[in-house]
Amino acid sequence: MDGTTPNAPDQRDDRRDVLMTRSLETLMAAEPDATAPRVLEMLDECVPLEKKGYRCLNPTCTELCAWPKLRGQGRPKLFCSKTCRQQHDRVRDRLIAEINGLEAVRDRPGTTRRQGEDLSSAIGQRRWALARYAGVSFDQPRDNAPEGGRRK
Ligand SMILES: [Zn+2]
Repeated sequence: MDGTTPNAPDQRDDRRDVLMTRSLETLMAAEPDATAPRVLEMLDECVPLEKKGYRCLNPTCTELCAWPKLRGQGRPKLFCSKTCRQQHDRVRDRLIAEINGLEAVRDRPGTTRRQGEDLSSAIGQRRWALARYAGVSFDQPRDNAPEGGRRK
């Protein structure tokens, strides 16, 4: 202890890289009349995209897909491999089919309330998994909330 009072701790010290860089949205809002050349400059000043790329869209894969550095490297990839694309599509389609099948059973006249709740739980789990998959658009649950939706 030397008796001097250091500057109050400031979160900015820990996050200097974050705060030094503003989003493109913020930069553009500050200069709403910016010309195209100025906006292109902003691209170098704003928060960049992830340099290493983004995760392969197969939810169970941890590989990264980067934007092609050079022309001729092909189109930007959403999946790290053909295998991942195929697996993604296969699992997505299976989950959708399972949800549709389970919903049909739940809606049958003879299904008891308890059975309906169990089926809703299974449907909810599949919707939860399916939320990780790209290009999925399905109806909102018609009947029940995922949790706490029990009604008498
Ligand atoms: Zn992958």
